[in-house]
Amino acid sequence: MSAGFFAFHKIIVLIIDILAIGLGVIVYRKNPQARTNRLFLIMSLFMIGWVDFAFLGRLLAFQSSSLALFSLKIAWFITPLFFCVLFLFIEEIAQLPKNKKIVIRDRIIILTGIGIALITLFTDLIIKNFVLQDSILVIIYGKGIFLFLGFGFILIVLTLYTLIKSYLHLPPYQKLKIQYFFVGLAIFYLANLIFNIFFPVLLKKTDLYYLGDYSTIVLLAFIAYAIVKRELFGIKVILTEFLVGAIGVILLIQSFLAPDVWTKVFNFLIFFFFSILGYLLIKSVLQEIKLRAQLEKAYKELKKLDEAKTEFLSIASHQLRTPLTAIKGYVAMLKEGIFGKLSDQVLEILNKVYISNERLINLVNSLLDIARLETGRLEFHFQPLQLEEVVESVIKEVSVAAQKKGIYLKYKKPKKPLPKVKADPEKIRQVILNIIDNAVKYTMKGGVTIKFKVKKDRCVLIVKDTGIGMTEEELEKAFQMYRRGQGVRMFPEGSGLGLYIAKKFVEAHNGRIWAESPGKDKGSTFYLELPFA
Ligand code: ADP
Repeated sequence: MSAGFFAFHKIIVLIIDILAIGLGVIVYRKNPQARTNRLFLIMSLFMIGWVDFAFLGRLLAFQSSSLALFSLKIAWFITPLFFCVLFLFIEEIAQLPKNKKIVIRDRIIILTGIGIALITLFTDLIIKNFVLQDSILVIIYGKGIFLFLGFGFILIVLTLYTLIKSYLHLPPYQKLKIQYFFVGLAIFYLANLIFNIFFPVLLKKTDLYYLGDYSTIVLLAFIAYAIVKRELFGIKVILTEFLVGAIGVILLIQSFLAPDVWTKVFNFLIFFFFSILGYLLIKSVLQEIKLRAQLEKAYKELKKLDEAKTEFLSIASHQLRTPLTAIKGYVAMLKEGIFGKLSDQVLEILNKVYISNERLINLVNSLLDIARLETGRLEFHFQPLQLEEVVESVIKEVSVAAQKKGIYLKYKKPKKPLPKVKADPEKIRQVILNIIDNAVKYTMKGGVTIKFKVKKDRCVLIVKDTGIGMTEEELEKAFQMYRRGQGVRMFPEGSGLGLYIAKKFVEAHNGRIWAESPGKDKGSTFYLELPFA
């Protein structure tokens, strides 16, 4: 192997070392407490050890075979440890829930890794010796090499499996982050499989061996890219500056070391253009961060305002409820004649006061529900619930209104009792009341049919009416806050909050609520799906 060959490799090993140590230290210092950051530092150090000792082994092979063998063994000693740490790192990135099984599995993997590493270093089972064939280093493997390779293979499979599994469950913005790891890992593993396992062990061809080791730089680069692009560790600028700086320094050194003036000038020009590009890159990153910071600030302020609004809503509703309840009580007493007999005319007006007051109480209750939902203060008390009973009691409540309007209210009672659902009785009653009450409210002729449909592990309540129906747009917006359809004109007193709250309640039950309608004046059907207890 020529001196030029080694000079070239020296530079590559140097680049890998600078990148690895720089990345490792920066990431670690950013947040020394975080496990991912600590694992990353260890990984970087292992990476350096692995690549350097493998290089040293090849370099020393021409001078001292015992020292060279020892260097090679150290490089191979580090390999299983590196793979273990990489696996733990990926596990951390994948955000797996730490259960007992996983903790035990991790321990077994680490202990096996350490065991194999020690066997590699202190016995001839993995690496027996090496020979120089045409000045190319060829390692002679021991009988235990397949143990070593098998362990590596299992870890590769486990790492990829963990990554894919978590990838499928992560939200989209985190998926992007994992994609970089994927690409980096895939190239790294593939290069290792081909150049460190397939060629040397199976084809006995070791001259491309170094490519496997150097593929670590690809892994590093992609992790770095994941950091820069997706702010994995939130150190975007430092990292970009570091990368640009490191490559700049190497380019500059190269231009000084060049053998003749023209190469020197040429190398220096490359350095010069790279510096300009690097400067622009850093500037754009800084700009992006500034913009993001502004956005974040605006978002925080908006959030504060929103919280203030919710707080106000909550306090105002509380304050409103007390006098309203007092009014309700006094009007009820007046109506009952406790303070003397009243004329029919006064009674009629009192009735109107009572109804308006009821409406206000309902509105205040809805606002309170929303305030509690938004602050996460709404509590649910789940218990097994016989859904038919709730539906029947709601039907009883609204049947008077239906009768008054002259529309039918048909209930198809299930032939045998339904399995119980897991629900908060009061909240679910409110949801069902809202659906059936709406159906009666928005139906002028014909009527409302209520029935159940039983599925394997859940049941669906179906409320079908022959009322004003809903357009596509209304269907889309019915479950949003303050959204009201054509019902507004007919019932200006509605709040447009009922279905919004209903949807939130149902979501807390792991259920679904939705509506269908063939169109305006063609009736609507509301569905409420709840899982069985
Ligand atoms: P509100 O009934 O107080 O307006 P909701 O949140 O209960 O508020 O309903 C939102 C909107 O959905 C209503 O304003 C109405 O336009 C539409 N809607 C709800 N139920 C029906 C129904 N059964 N038929 C037609 N439209 C309906």
